[in-house]
Amino acid sequence: SGMDGDAPTSPPPPTTPQRIARVLLEETALELDYLIPDDLAARIQPGTRVHIPLQNRKETAVVLQILDDSPFADKLKPISSTVGSRPMFTATLLQLAQWTSQYYLSPVRQVLRAMLPEAVRSKPETFLSDSHLTLTNPPDAEALEKLQKTAPLQARIIHLLQSSGGEATLSQLRQQLHSATQVVHALVRKNIISRSEVRVERDPFQDEEFLPSSPLTFTEEQQAAFTQILLNLNTPADERKPILLHGVTGSGKTELYLQAIAHVLTQNQTALVLVPEISLTPQTIERFKSRFSDRKERIAVLHSHLSEGERHDEWFKIHENRADIVIGARSAIFAPLQNLGIIVVDEEHEPSYKQDENPRYHARDLAIVRAKLEKCPVLLGSATPSLETWTNARSGKYLHLHLTKRTDHKTLPLIRVVDMRLEKRKTKDGVAILSEVLRIAIQRRLDQGEQIILFLNRRGFNTAVTCLDCGTTVRCPDCDIPFTFHKTDNRLVCHVCGMRSLPPKKCAQCNTPTLLFGGFGTERAEATLRTVFPTARIARVDTDVMNRKNQLRDTLRDFRSQKIDLLIGTQMIAKGLDFPNVTLVGVLNADLSLNLPDFRAAERTFQLLTQVAGRAGRGEIKGEVLIQTYAPHSPAIQFARHADYDGYAEQELEHRSNFGPYPPHTHAILIGSRSKQAALAEFTLQNLATKLKKSLPNGTIIHDPCPSPLAKAHGQYRFQLLLLTDKIRPLLAQLKATLTDMTFPEEVIVTWDIDPTTL
Ligand code: ADP
Ligand code: ZN
Repeated sequence: SGMDGDAPTSPPPPTTPQRIARVLLEETALELDYLIPDDLAARIQPGTRVHIPLQNRKETAVVLQILDDSPFADKLKPISSTVGSRPMFTATLLQLAQWTSQYYLSPVRQVLRAMLPEAVRSKPETFLSDSHLTLTNPPDAEALEKLQKTAPLQARIIHLLQSSGGEATLSQLRQQLHSATQVVHALVRKNIISRSEVRVERDPFQDEEFLPSSPLTFTEEQQAAFTQILLNLNTPADERKPILLHGVTGSGKTELYLQAIAHVLTQNQTALVLVPEISLTPQTIERFKSRFSDRKERIAVLHSHLSEGERHDEWFKIHENRADIVIGARSAIFAPLQNLGIIVVDEEHEPSYKQDENPRYHARDLAIVRAKLEKCPVLLGSATPSLETWTNARSGKYLHLHLTKRTDHKTLPLIRVVDMRLEKRKTKDGVAILSEVLRIAIQRRLDQGEQIILFLNRRGFNTAVTCLDCGTTVRCPDCDIPFTFHKTDNRLVCHVCGMRSLPPKKCAQCNTPTLLFGGFGTERAEATLRTVFPTARIARVDTDVMNRKNQLRDTLRDFRSQKIDLLIGTQMIAKGLDFPNVTLVGVLNADLSLNLPDFRAAERTFQLLTQVAGRAGRGEIKGEVLIQTYAPHSPAIQFARHADYDGYAEQELEHRSNFGPYPPHTHAILIGSRSKQAALAEFTLQNLATKLKKSLPNGTIIHDPCPSPLAKAHGQYRFQLLLLTDKIRPLLAQLKATLTDMTFPEEVIVTWDIDPTTL
């Protein structure tokens, strides 16, 4: 063609515009523009953390956007440096931060802060290192013999290296020889050994061994569900629905997660698995590491029991694309995985997915949002789905998959309800801990060499100390709730603020020395059990006794190997544990959750009882569950007893439309105020309510401000204001405008919780 052979025309002079970054300052939330210096240009993208000059200070900021120009371009200062070698936030995570900020009415800065573990933010890329040593110029036999005499330690190190194939790390050698560091140093100088620095991962599971496991052959039900899941995976993103995998405990949900993930990995994509903190046990992780044993180093784990250093290293493992499966609790929804192929949320109904400080996000809801942004499938699993999710599944918004049978074809355990009103009359002090029915059942299982789990969601020995004369209960002065008596420590403890004090000898009101130590928690239940079953091997699991690292793991291990007959504990033992020899599960007091002042009390009770029942009879022997309650006819208990989720859900939904109407018929927003001055806290909410009422979106119900169920905590009085709406977006907009507009008294703290999980 005509151009061929022509001299190349010189390109126009580069008119590349000044590149400018719009950054968000982490401390002050200012958004400012800075120039991108040429030498940093390659490293700066949206999501990069940078240092910038501001007045005379150096501040940290996050790049939100790259701009081609700015009206102030010639006045802008350049970015000083980048933090870390690549962007800390992916483009999708920046979008997710914006979404979270808008929905939960929390500044972007705060959301970005919540997205990074503390150690990643404050000490990024500080890895531990070790020296890798190679025996490069080993002395010959003669020289070695000489060395043996002149420098025996050097000879020893050479021997050690020879016996390990000529290579070792310094820390390995130091386990053999305390002074290895200096000796190695001398050998390096003599050029006998060469050394190089290597990064050491703080691996929380480095001492664990994982036996490989293979995929199981699906049952018919699992196969049907898996076919649907694969179809969903292959559906175009804009037509794809979130999946609810609704399956009874032991129906093989986890097996489906594992195989769905295996499929995703074959597509060279990554997987994010959210698990409630409490279920994130070594067993859970072991199941993943065993199944994917060929790449077990590429599984990262994120949860709050890791040390700072471990969390830092796990995070960077994900960040540097060295992990393709992440298993984590709530905050792992922000794991910086790229190329996501699936998000799994196990036990999607768990309230612990809700963050209890700003930003008060719900990780399951963010999973739905993130999946949409990442254009990847999302799989929610539960035996007792939240009513929110169930409603979405029933209406066709989600794909509803069912697993109705346990894979072992065991029938569900027999559930019996024990009416404690009858038991109470038989006791001397009116405190019925162990009914006759339960006592006999325990004795029988003990006699048969089977194991028992008893569940009581309250710690301590006595739950109240009351004056028999004037009726005054000893309360925490800061929180106004009854103190719990802890016998081992001989202290009264406030379960809200942790305040501890000596138990009084007499009533502070009337000086009467006749104080009644009433009610019971796990500590007292344990003592009773030890008296009633003196030869049984009993262990207690709650946060009072499980304070040493690995103590929980060790206790559960002993229980599994049947060194313990009976485990009594709080919700720590209700979840995700699989003990084949447990044939009896007892709930000592089902009313604890039933009596919560919350419209979700029945839902929580149903979930808890179903969960607990799933612990019994997982092995060869049929299991049995005994529920002690003063409200034997309450629907939550009766539906749980018959394992009737649909029946429960329908009556509960109807109940919630008759009262409220409560979620999921509406969205709730809970605004709280707290202050040392009760009147001020209340007045602030009244004021806010008045302003809101002026232009509430249609279909919004606003309650009057009232004291919170926990009316006082940490010395502050607490009030709350409940809004229910079927138009969440307009209400959020209005709430945001009103909050921005108002100034609150300095002595009052105002919080807001969108879609709260507890009132
Ligand atoms: P869930 O997560 O629903 O509680 P799991 O996936 O943990 O259920 O399965 C319960 C038990 O059944 C586990 O011990 C698991 O190994 C086993 N299991 C799951 N699927 C199968 C299958 N297809 N064949 C045999 N055993 C299975
Ligand atoms: Zn207190």
